[in-house]
Amino acid sequence: MGWRENNKIVTITAHRFAWEYYNKDKIPQGLLICHHCDNPLCVNPSHLFLGTAKDNIQDCMQKGRFKGGRKKPKIHVEHVIP
Ligand SMILES: [Zn+2]
Repeated sequence: MGWRENNKIVTITAHRFAWEYYNKDKIPQGLLICHHCDNPLCVNPSHLFLGTAKDNIQDCMQKGRFKGGRKKPKIHVEHVIP
């Protein structure tokens, strides 16, 4: 996702946009949007939480995502449309 602002191309990933839209707030610098559902394409705000890169890695490890077996991505866009 991207748009132009002050002659610069602004890019934002869909889940970051979804979080900001839903929370009506900006993501603090240096923080990431992590997924409860482990689906990088998911933009369902209730599946998203704010975390540091370290949180994200720990979350990954706890869920065993590093061991492989990633599920097929599904997009949960329907929850975002008001
Ligand atoms: Zn999800």
